[in-house]
Amino acid sequence: MFDVVAKGFRDVRNRFEGKREITEENIDGALKDIRMAMLEADVNFRIAKGFIERVKETALGEIVRVKAKAGEKVEVTPGDHFIRICHDELEKLLGPVDTSIMYSNPRLGPTKIMMVGLQGSGKTTTTGKLAKYLKEREGKKPLLVGADVYRPAAIEQLRVLAKRIDVPVHAREGGDPVEVCRESLKIAEEKGCDVILFDTAGRLAVDDVLMDELEMIVQQTKPENIFLVADAMIGQDAVNTAKEFNARLEVDGFIMTKLDGDARGGAALSIKEVTGKPIKFIGLGEDLDALEEFRPEGLANRILGFGDVMGLMDRFERTLSEEDAARAEKDAMRMLSGKFDFNDFYNQLAQISKLGSMSELMEMMPFGASMPEGAQVDDDDLAKIRAIIQSMTEQEKSHPELLTQQPNRVRRIAKGSGSPLEKVEQVIQQFNMMQGMMQQFSNMGGGFLNKIPGL
Ligand code: GDP
Repeated sequence: MFDVVAKGFRDVRNRFEGKREITEENIDGALKDIRMAMLEADVNFRIAKGFIERVKETALGEIVRVKAKAGEKVEVTPGDHFIRICHDELEKLLGPVDTSIMYSNPRLGPTKIMMVGLQGSGKTTTTGKLAKYLKEREGKKPLLVGADVYRPAAIEQLRVLAKRIDVPVHAREGGDPVEVCRESLKIAEEKGCDVILFDTAGRLAVDDVLMDELEMIVQQTKPENIFLVADAMIGQDAVNTAKEFNARLEVDGFIMTKLDGDARGGAALSIKEVTGKPIKFIGLGEDLDALEEFRPEGLANRILGFGDVMGLMDRFERTLSEEDAARAEKDAMRMLSGKFDFNDFYNQLAQISKLGSMSELMEMMPFGASMPEGAQVDDDDLAKIRAIIQSMTEQEKSHPELLTQQPNRVRRIAKGSGSPLEKVEQVIQQFNMMQGMMQQFSNMGGGFLNKIPGL
């Protein structure tokens, strides 16, 4: 996600490479790169313009500061300065962070969350994801309510999801949606549920009939939270829909879905500024676990190519067993002390493959998005690399230099793993590159993390 904007910022970094000071001229060039990237990513025109103006104003102020310091030892490059300004502005554009869910006083009954949105936006899927999140992460007991009574498939889909996460459902095909929602308040109490999620009907476009029905449900059930599910793939249309819904219903926040599939992501960058309402969660896949709390900082870092270290840690915690995590920590300590062999390389790849798709993870790693082509691997590659490493002897795994010294070993590994010779050589090259990076990190010590803004 955000490939287009991220590329714009990569161009900006390159533009400043080797420059000793910020001038008005190179700021103008950089701003042009950013503006193009933002518009290409389908960011709202007015918002892109405002962003550029604010960055320009601050950056011009920085020129004075940098010049005033002329003659002193420069610790931060002009490029760093400029990217820092962009980072802060991006965070302001996306924030302030508010991922809160408003809970009711338990004595007054269960908390109600009303999910609204256009058909196909991912409303039903997201209702399931949110129920799972509330159950597993917040210790809640959710009840799912099928209020999309017009589409039998929607209720069936909700039932399937509920079964997978083991939570109850209340639905009645052909019933009155307002009535179904109202009944659910009592049913939740009977079943001991403390959160109710209403999966309401959607339409292909916002219309009065839909809005009247939603307003009626609001009147009758007084939900503490109304979340609009918006599909990031439809770009500015998602922002316009959000505006229309918000005008009628006073939504509390948004859940942007399909950010995994959208290389542009302009809607996510515009929606808060256009509507004044925050993004609460983001959907990153069809899987029930693919829902994350929205953290503007993580996103700003990802866009700028600094990776999303906090997001990665969070995913580690959720996905890996305690045993895995303890081993990963031990491995990390070993690697940071400068020791890194093929066993580590293999373990790292095996751990990583549990966390998600390779391209998504690369994006979350600091500087991952800007890794040279040859250093990046995709999921198919991962399986091939495994086979290659499994064809090495224990001695070769722990003494990788043997492979560079004795080419016949490389030929044997190629045969054993059924891979072309060039592929094995490429893996060795990737290993060497990663080993080099580990050594650099270990030389930098804690300094490496200081290089990531916001950490
Ligand atoms: P609804 O009509 O709004 O209830 O939409 P659905 O929940 O039926 O979702 C429509 C399609 O979008 C389904 O195929 C979902 O699997 C898919 N979907 C939902 N959320 C995401 C997401 O975050 N990423 C991806 N890639 N697909 C999603």
